[in-house]
Amino acid sequence: MDLKQYVSEVENWPKEGVQFKDITTIMDNGEAYGYAVDQIAEYAKDLDIDIVVGPEARGFIIGCPVAYKLGIGFAPVRKPGKLPRETVAFEYDLEYGQNTLEMHRDAIKPGARVLITDDLLATGGTVKATIKLIEELGGVVAGMAFLIELKYLDGKSLLEGYDYVSLIKYE
Ligand code: 5GP
Repeated sequence: MDLKQYVSEVENWPKEGVQFKDITTIMDNGEAYGYAVDQIAEYAKDLDIDIVVGPEARGFIIGCPVAYKLGIGFAPVRKPGKLPRETVAFEYDLEYGQNTLEMHRDAIKPGARVLITDDLLATGGTVKATIKLIEELGGVVAGMAFLIELKYLDGKSLLEGYDYVSLIKYE
């Protein structure tokens, strides 16, 4: 299946000069969404994954059905102040300003093998912060999966030494 045809490309959103890749038109198509989830589960099935982790909010959309399919759990990565129990936090730089992501401290057991999921890999900042949180908790990032990779933003260079798959590529 050619998943790219289900992505909606929205010009000048959320700001002038950006072409946003809207994945809601994958999600609202049962066949396309199911295919994407199956492809990621297929990638993960031999990686001996214990838990899936995804950053809010679109990482949940991909990660939860993959976790269900693999018969394992899912742990969320969220913006500050959203998780009710004890958390770990990681702060990272954006193009303009900074961002912080958090996880529950007990979400990852030491030595657990983790699959990270997100909708899109751009500069890699979000997934790198997610890796830092998992590793701080003693987890092992065994693989990562993205619906879309914007190759021209070179997120790959931040992810050296880690294995990942992306289903749709923009050169
Ligand atoms: P990065 O941290 O790799 O630069 O950006 C990736 C994060 O930003 C992902 O969590 C993703 O949800 C969001 N993102 C950035 N650009 C887009 C886009 O064009 N479409 C979608 N769906 N998400 C984007």
